Amino acid sequence: MPILPQPHPELNQIPHHLHYDGAYPCPICLWGRISGLAMMDAFGCYLCRHIFTANLETQILMMADQERPLSWHWNGKRWQGGHRPDTELGWGIWLAAFALILLPPTLIWLGGRIFPPLPGSPLSWFPDFWAVSAFFGHLTIVIWLVVEYYQFPLLVFFRVWRRRLWSEVR
Ligand SMILES: [Zn+2]
Repeated sequence: MPILPQPHPELNQIPHHLHYDGAYPCPICLWGRISGLAMMDAFGCYLCRHIFTANLETQILMMADQERPLSWHWNGKRWQGGHRPDTELGWGIWLAAFALILLPPTLIWLGGRIFPPLPGSPLSWFPDFWAVSAFFGHLTIVIWLVVEYYQFPLLVFFRVWRRRLWSEVR
């Protein structure tokens, strides 16, 4: 009988209210636990090592080690929110991102169709290749910008999830 890992033995004991004596799931890495730091009115995650401050009256948790902090509201069971309180990405930004991803490769692809390369020429594959590369290139740029904007700790997230999947497979 294999011994299953028990990363959350006290999962059923998450306090209903946010206070510094309790331990809560980490809203950043989603797998670590945050708990009150000794002698400080702050929470820390043992896994991703992010530091949080809290407003216990409003049950709001804020990321302390970020220039423009993320914040979450504790609803008694889990965290809600996770967006910056002051700034939101409006639909105009998403439209622009969408256009940035789709427009250039479409234009390149159309160019290749309107002015097709000579059949049988050694570079006849190039317009399609260029269109596909432009698509993935711009997609990468947009994803990178979104990750930068939200300051999402992508590496921590992937490392934690790989560890989690690995422990479930075994
Ligand atoms: Zn964490």
